[in-house]
Amino acid sequence: MEAAATSKVDVLIIGAGPAGLMLSLWMAKLGIKTRVVDKRTGKIVSGQADGFQCRTLEIFDSFGIGHKVWHEANHMHEVSFWNPGEDGKIRRHHRGPNTQPNLSRFTEAVLHQGRVESILIDTIRASASPKHPLVEIERSVMPTSLHIDESSVDDEDAYPVEVTLRHLTEEEATPTQRLSNLQDGLYRSNLAEDDTERLLANTAGVGREEKVRAKYVVGCDGAHSWVRKTLGEEYQMKGESTDAIWGVLDIIPITDFPDIRSRCMIHSAEFGAMMIIPRENKLVRVYTQLKQVSTGTGRVDRSQITPDVILETARKILSPYTLDYHYIDWWTAYQIGQRVGDRFSKHNRVFLTGDAVHTHSPKAGQGMNVSMGDTYNLGWKLGLVCKKLLQPHVLDTYELERRQIARQLIAFDHKFSRLFSGRPAKDASDEAGSSMSEFQQAFREAQLFITGVGIHYQPSILTSDSDLKGGLQGTETPSQSHVTSVAESAAHCQPGRRFASQIVLSQADVRPWELQLHMPSNGRFRVVVFGGDISQATQLATVNKLGGWLQANVLSPAKSPRISLAPGPDPRGGSGSSQWMTDEDPSIVDVLLVHSAPRDKIELLQDLHEVFHPFDKKLGWDYGKVFADDHGKAHEHYGVDPDRGAVVALRPDGYIGLVTGLQAEDGWTRLQAWFGGLLRPSPSSS
Ligand code: FAD
Repeated sequence: MEAAATSKVDVLIIGAGPAGLMLSLWMAKLGIKTRVVDKRTGKIVSGQADGFQCRTLEIFDSFGIGHKVWHEANHMHEVSFWNPGEDGKIRRHHRGPNTQPNLSRFTEAVLHQGRVESILIDTIRASASPKHPLVEIERSVMPTSLHIDESSVDDEDAYPVEVTLRHLTEEEATPTQRLSNLQDGLYRSNLAEDDTERLLANTAGVGREEKVRAKYVVGCDGAHSWVRKTLGEEYQMKGESTDAIWGVLDIIPITDFPDIRSRCMIHSAEFGAMMIIPRENKLVRVYTQLKQVSTGTGRVDRSQITPDVILETARKILSPYTLDYHYIDWWTAYQIGQRVGDRFSKHNRVFLTGDAVHTHSPKAGQGMNVSMGDTYNLGWKLGLVCKKLLQPHVLDTYELERRQIARQLIAFDHKFSRLFSGRPAKDASDEAGSSMSEFQQAFREAQLFITGVGIHYQPSILTSDSDLKGGLQGTETPSQSHVTSVAESAAHCQPGRRFASQIVLSQADVRPWELQLHMPSNGRFRVVVFGGDISQATQLATVNKLGGWLQANVLSPAKSPRISLAPGPDPRGGSGSSQWMTDEDPSIVDVLLVHSAPRDKIELLQDLHEVFHPFDKKLGWDYGKVFADDHGKAHEHYGVDPDRGAVVALRPDGYIGLVTGLQAEDGWTRLQAWFGGLLRPSPSSS
């Protein structure tokens, strides 16, 4: 074996699945020195996850790549529920929208995980620039040891985590497939043995090893996570497995079943349940319950599971309709179970994300979405801490926020998968069977959670509960007048929820914009000022007074944070690095103004404070920060009274951090205190 070399890196990411790639994207965009290693030779080429929820599409769009997924994916607008009729044959029981309308500008869409990973990898590569180091995905590399120097975890300049990496040969890193001519996902399934120990034993003493010292290590290494196991007993996942086994086929079906291009939930009288997911390129994913391979003791004979067995079961469930195929793209099988870890980080230096810390059944299309949600949450925090813009203790909120979501996911999946796998009730007195109306109701009620739009982070240093209790960090007691003024200021903007999008008109050129498109994921916080009817002199004066105050008290270069002078974003794929935070321009707060005055009554440059159209001597004025809500629809949607206005502060991930009144100066001070609790003084002020 060659001698171990030692190098230093800010962030070491272990695992390049959806969670690892989303984190890599943040690191690449923020210019953080990062290494990403994965034990496999290549990324997934077909199969695995395919469901994209609305919130994930919004997140992709905020990185300028939502349109790529949206155009290639199949959009699932409709869901049909099929149950056995009195004659025992399946019949359509109900048809409805798959995604509740108006939750988001997107609907659930389906595209296979490999394509999604490709889009992410291309975007990560394209983010490299002379100032932003290339973040490369290093394949066939796995860790063999991890050691945390606990004496230096509080020293922000230290590299306290030492990891030994082993480089594997292509043969060692290529997973074994069951059939020689067809891709399967069995090696990643919870029915398969983990091959990590075998790989480590087989490759000991051969191949190159190196040591890496990292400030932060993130375990994105999937359900069998080596990182999690290495952290010790208290990081074990807790939960249970059922004896329900499901098979999955990705095929181009030949069938007379009428709803094959709709999402379908089908319960047969005798042969179990099935789900149909219409996919891109004429593919259809078929999930079938495999009753014949469940032993009832928790042990499964995997050799019994083949594509033919899955097809045969699907045919029985679908009868009297027929099902066949000539083309099969991928197949797998899995056992239903739900597990979640208690701890998502160690010393805020090693983090666990995605399947490494929560696993569940795949049918509700959550795992990839929630896994990327974890690292979308962690990425900006880690990146800004590495850049010394954010206080390191903000990293505490990763576990706080994402463990809550993981627990909700496990509870939801527990209920949903049992209702799905259960035998349909024959009638109301059949208590052992699952009631189909209960199943449909559970599906409907879970929409906010399933789509990701309903995520509501609990109060913390990042999400003030000021509209309820007023305390920025839960310590202050607000006056009643403050509570009332805040609650009334933007009634539908709740701290901890994502800021929804509304269409507004550019003040400068009348172009209609989804407001979210002016909030790219570039690491910046945002202050959205709802100015109300600024054609009224007093309202305009208040907005301009706030503008001056923001510039002097929150955004002044002499204080922290600093105002963004970056030109307006080019959300549809603008590759100019100027919209990303750079070493020259680490501006960290953007200000936007939305007003409800008639647009032609306002002159952008003449009427409004310069904070709303900052000037740069090379780039001129920024025309992309003021929007007219001519008919007041956006104000109404956000719950803002146009006669009063409101101020909403957003985190870099688009979640609402603080809501306060436009008029109330004590509210402005709260804004300053909120930023002060999160951001570090800029070098010029220290
Ligand atoms: P993974 O995707 O498992 O990625 C982990 C990565 O780490 C892999 O690349 C692996 O090679 C690497 N790795 C593992 N161990 C090591 C190590 N020791 N060293 C280095 N690298 C390592 N989710 C959805 O959201 N929507 C769906 O529609 C959906 N459908 C699914 C359908 C099926 C049939 C299955 C099986 C899953 C489905 N899921 C779905 C779940 C989804 O695939 C996972 O939740 C998601 O892939 C988890 O992402 P991850 O990045 O956390 O882990």
